Amino acid sequence: MSVPYLMTGGKDAGPASTRIPPIARPFVSDKAKKTLDIVEKFVEEDCIPADAVYAQQVGHGSTKERFSAHPPILEDLKKKAQSLGLWNMFLPKNHFKEGAGFSNLEYGLMAEYLGKSDIASEAVNCAAPDTGNMEVFAKYGTEQQKRQWLDPLLRGEIRSAFLMTEPQVASSDATNIEMSMKQDGDYWVLNGQKWWSSGAGDARCKIFIVMAKSSPNNPDKYRQQSVIFVPADTQGVIVRRVLGVIGYDHAPHGHAQIEFNNVRVHKSNMCLGEGRGFEVVQGRLGPGRIHHAMRSVGAAEKALEWFLARINDPAKKPFGQLLSNHGIMLERVARSRIEIDAARLAVLNAAIKVDEGDAKFALKEIAEVKVLVPNTLLDVLDRAMQAYGGAGVSQDTPLAAMWANGRTMRIVDGPDEVHMLQLGRNEAKRGGALLKKIRAQQEKTRRLLGEAGIEWEDRLALNRVMGGKESKL
Ligand SMILES: Cc1cc2nc3c(=O)[nH]c(=O)nc-3n(C[C@H](O)[C@H](O)[C@H](O)COP(=O)(O)OP(=O)(O)OC[C@H]3O[C@@H](n4cnc5c(N)ncnc54)[C@H](O)[C@@H]3O)c2cc1C
Repeated sequence: MSVPYLMTGGKDAGPASTRIPPIARPFVSDKAKKTLDIVEKFVEEDCIPADAVYAQQVGHGSTKERFSAHPPILEDLKKKAQSLGLWNMFLPKNHFKEGAGFSNLEYGLMAEYLGKSDIASEAVNCAAPDTGNMEVFAKYGTEQQKRQWLDPLLRGEIRSAFLMTEPQVASSDATNIEMSMKQDGDYWVLNGQKWWSSGAGDARCKIFIVMAKSSPNNPDKYRQQSVIFVPADTQGVIVRRVLGVIGYDHAPHGHAQIEFNNVRVHKSNMCLGEGRGFEVVQGRLGPGRIHHAMRSVGAAEKALEWFLARINDPAKKPFGQLLSNHGIMLERVARSRIEIDAARLAVLNAAIKVDEGDAKFALKEIAEVKVLVPNTLLDVLDRAMQAYGGAGVSQDTPLAAMWANGRTMRIVDGPDEVHMLQLGRNEAKRGGALLKKIRAQQEKTRRLLGEAGIEWEDRLALNRVMGGKESKL
């Protein structure tokens, strides 16, 4: 049965390509528009209905069973996606030859739809953290590293994890990380712990990209770390447990706590070079940061769709009226519409800026969307959940799980505060120049007044002498 996915109502109803914001349209190729429409249809017709099937195929067994599951429906979707030409759209064409030939903006438009389903991103091989990890291999890997790890990742045969955060230190400041990495002949030996290693719960996760402290005595604290590729099955690696996310285990993907006990890795696995870990991490977290935001816009749009469906459900009429007849609900709908549209424009703007230069060039715009979009998503989800009453916080709608996932976005890839601080600091730096500009403008006003023979007069001056005589002071 086909899903009438274009029956979204309203005068804007039409395929995704007809709804691209005018501001972004000139940057989108015809090929991208066509692909965008295929992505929308694939997500709405195939992936969203399959989300619940996937969850059932993961099963309700033990942790070990859930994290060994590999739901067949996902492989079916991957095959279909490839037959539709939907594969690896995330690798931006101006930086990588291995991708599908789209810009960040074009992929951003597609990623919005992927964000409406739990499994769509993986079905088209555009799922985190593999996307960022593939960028690391493509950008910094040697030919041998690319063949060994990038190729199977690009084919969607294996999965990967990125290991930076550690349980015992405040890892939002990555100079704090402590995992030791000492050279022994041709090998590096790693000891320590990582946690929140997303994707490492999955039995298909074969490669870890690990940041550790290789040069603790380097006077430059940003040159003390290195990134190294560690095959997941190296002796001494123990995936100790997975961490829950507000009660959800995100199986079989998972967020793992991992121990490294004398893990020996050949020096040929070093990424870019000793002491260049920060360079790798900063390169990795560029476009990947906006991928989350792009998907979150789609998640917010889905939350609004569920919200609108509920307030127009004739079976559920509190106090004899559809919820949509209650003004307070309409105000919440309007607020959600405004906020989602604003968030989308901010994300697309950041994507255009990344396309024009690189992630560094778009630092401000990336930080803006990192803060704006997850907060928008959470606000919209909260309103939608409220409209559903008890059902909104239960397993009967996708909203509660989406909220739990959305809430992590304010922490993942650096908490809000870090981006705010960076934004605030950079804005504040403009203060000195602005002070000079404002002073110069005031000075010119005084000169113009003088030239025009006008004596400056404060229109609100009172000069009321309340007793005695006005002081000459
Ligand atoms: C679902 C999920 C998936 C993740 N996936 C990965 C992954 O794949 N790989 C990986 O390495 N890590 C991953 N992380 C970890 C994530 O990157 C870190 O949790 C994050 O960087 C914060 O580090 P921390 O947890 O050590 O918190 P801390 O550094 O201890 O910070 C705690 C809090 O302090 C506050 N804070 C921090 N800095 C400032 C500041 N400058 N000013 C004011 N307040 C501040 C913030 O409120 C912050 O939340 C994931 C986390 C989650 C929740």
